[in-house]
Amino acid sequence: MKIHEYQAKELLRKYGVITPRGVPCFSVDEAVKAAESLGGKVWVVKAQIHAGGRGKGGGVKVAKSLDEVRQYAGQILGMQLVTHQTGPEGQEVKRLLVEEGADIASELYVGMVVDRVTQRVCLMASSEGGMDIEEVAAKTPEKIHKVFIDPAAGLTAQEADDTAAKIGVPTASIPQARAVLQGLYSAFWDSDASLAEINPLIVTGDGQVIALDAKMNFDSNGLFRHEDILAMRDLDEEDAAEIEASKYDLSYISLDGNIGCMVNGAGLAMATMDTIKLFGAEPANFLDVGGGATVEKVTEAFKLMLANTKVKAILVNIFGGIMRCDTIADGIVEAAKQTHLSVPLVVRMRGTNEEIGKKTLEASGLPIITANDMAEAAQKVVAAVA
Ligand code: ADP
Ligand code: MG
Repeated sequence: MKIHEYQAKELLRKYGVITPRGVPCFSVDEAVKAAESLGGKVWVVKAQIHAGGRGKGGGVKVAKSLDEVRQYAGQILGMQLVTHQTGPEGQEVKRLLVEEGADIASELYVGMVVDRVTQRVCLMASSEGGMDIEEVAAKTPEKIHKVFIDPAAGLTAQEADDTAAKIGVPTASIPQARAVLQGLYSAFWDSDASLAEINPLIVTGDGQVIALDAKMNFDSNGLFRHEDILAMRDLDEEDAAEIEASKYDLSYISLDGNIGCMVNGAGLAMATMDTIKLFGAEPANFLDVGGGATVEKVTEAFKLMLANTKVKAILVNIFGGIMRCDTIADGIVEAAKQTHLSVPLVVRMRGTNEEIGKKTLEASGLPIITANDMAEAAQKVVAAVA
C-alpha cells in the first residue's frame, strides 16, 4: 500500500525527521489559507498523488505571493498529472500539500528497500538527489552508496555518519543527517514498510538537514497490525479493478495487454503470463482465484476481466487440486450468462473433476475453445486476438 507525501512526512516527523511545515489541502481557498497560516514569503504548492516525478510534470510549483499560491493551487488541483510513473493517462490531482519554501544548498538522495538477496533492509544514498535519481542509477551507479543493515544492530551511528560523509553532508551537519537516517530506518522497521525514500534530502544554507519529499510503501501483509497506516489508504489513487477484486479476496493486478487470464495459484498465473508473452501477446491482468474459489468468486473474476474494455480474449488455466474443475466450469457458465460473454474464451483444465467440468462446458453450448496443455492454450488465445 502507498501513502501520500504529506502522510509520509507526518509519519517521519514522529521519528525525528525534520520536514518543512506544511498543510494538506483539498481546495484552492484552503491552500491560500494554509499559506497565510504558515507565513513567510515563499511557499511550495505540491500535487499529492501516489506517483513520483511530479516536479517535472508540473505538479510542484514555487509561489512567491499569496496570489501565486491561489493561481498554482487552481492549476494543479483537478489537473490530470502525467509523470513517468503514472502512465500516459496521468492521475487526477485531488489533494495538495502547501508547505514553506526551503533554502536549498544541496539536494541529496536517501532511500530504503528490502533487499531479497541479503534479506536485509538496504540503505541507498547519493549526493545526486533531486529529480533525476533514475538516471543516476542507470548511468553512474557508482554514485549510489549502499549499506545492508544488520537487523540485530539496526543502522549504527557509524554507518549513518559514513554514509552522510560519502554523499557530501558537511561535517557540522552530520549529527543531523544521522538523526534522519536512523529515524528513517526506525520508521521503516516499525511500520513494515517495503520502501521509504527521501528525495531530495536537502542541506539548507544554514546547514539544516531537511526531508523535502517523502515516499513510503508498506507490505500489505503487515497492515493488519498498523491501523494508523491503513487509515491513510486513499482509494482514489488505486486501480478500480484491483479494489473491486480485493472485495472478493481475488489476487488481481491490472496490466496493459489484451488477454484476460484466470488462473488458480500465483505460480501458475505467472507461468501463464510468461507463456502468453512467449507466443507474442500481452496479458491484461494477473489473476489468481485461489485454492478454494466458489462459483460466485469465479463469476466475479469474469466480470472483472470483461469490464476491462481492452480485453479481446480470455484464457482460463486451471490445475484442479483443491480447486475443482467442475466448480470452475459452473463459474464460467454462470459468468457467461450474467455477462453476455462476447470475446473468445480458451479453457485449459486439468486435475480434480476434470471430466465433470468438461461435460458442463460442452453442455452449456458456449463457444469455448478447449486446449490440453499450456502451450496449446496460449497459442490458441494468442491466435484469437491476432
Ligand atoms: P517529485 O519528486 O514528485 O518531483 P518533490 O517533492 O521532490 O516532487 O519536488 C520536486 C522539486 O521541487 C524538489 O527536488 C525541490 O527542488 C523542489 N521543492 C519541493 N519542495 C520544496 C520546498 N518545500 N521548498 C523548496 N523547493 C521544494
Ligand atoms: Mg522527489
